[in-house]
Amino acid sequence: MASYYNEHTVLWLNGDFVKASEAKMDFYSQSFHYGYSVFEGIRSYKTASGDTKIFKAEAHYDRLEQSAIALNLPYHWKTDELIEITYEVLKRNNLQDAYIRPVVYAPANMSFVVNTQSFLVIEVWEMQPFLGDKLLSVMTSSFQRPNPKGFKIHAKAAGHYVNSILASQEAKAAGFDEALLTDMHGNVAEGPGANLFYEKDGKLFTPATGNILPGITRATVFEICDTLGIAVEEKVITLAELKQADAVFYCGTAAEVIGWKKLDDTEFPFPWEESLSRMIQLAYKNRVIEKQTQLETEPA
Ligand code: PMP
Repeated sequence: MASYYNEHTVLWLNGDFVKASEAKMDFYSQSFHYGYSVFEGIRSYKTASGDTKIFKAEAHYDRLEQSAIALNLPYHWKTDELIEITYEVLKRNNLQDAYIRPVVYAPANMSFVVNTQSFLVIEVWEMQPFLGDKLLSVMTSSFQRPNPKGFKIHAKAAGHYVNSILASQEAKAAGFDEALLTDMHGNVAEGPGANLFYEKDGKLFTPATGNILPGITRATVFEICDTLGIAVEEKVITLAELKQADAVFYCGTAAEVIGWKKLDDTEFPFPWEESLSRMIQLAYKNRVIEKQTQLETEPA
């Protein structure tokens, strides 16, 4: 298991910078008992110029607020203030390439009623590889993503991640790197912690919103495709259709852009190095470290 903190690590807890090893939360919290909290997964990078930059900080803290509102968790923080605090947490922990995890959680409450109060913790740790850099072998999960009529699927809610954990553990136990989950209709949805795109005949396709977490990286891929002049279509995608793809990739804040080798028994035949997906992967890597490249500065 990765080590997330040591005796020097500092986190931000409800207005104070405190040592991670001394921070406390309430064991009677409604969040702890029922998985009723919302969170974010954010990355900071050491940029090409050497500065520390939180990638799309505003979009992440805005989504945190939207997730809290979706779950009726009181939210009284301002995005700008939280961004400033996060840079300070990074500085106090002497981190540049980091993973940032804010969590909004509920007070002691064993009932299901709305709270008048919420709490916020911001933790940072050194970034460890999430899915790695090699092409993934992916298994179609026996688990489906939560039914959007049973959950606020667009919110990044802790409870949804029991579904992600089950799917990922199942895939790994069967010898795969990661799972692919379908939606309640059996169509392609997303990974346990990433969105999906596939490439076919020079065009990209991705599942439409409604049954997935609309990822911030997914939005960045749209921006990159726009700059590179690559067409992207959002649509319902069947498993059979996905298996006919030239190339497939997962994308997410932690996963970044990561290609697939195969889905179940189907290997994707197109050489990854020659795919548009690979170009997008490189463009993403450059974008997060603010490195200007020919690729993205050329008019499409
Ligand atoms: N789907 C799920 C279920 C996720 O957990 C994540 C990671 N947050 C994503 C998609 C990708 O979202 P983002 O690009 O905003 O990290």
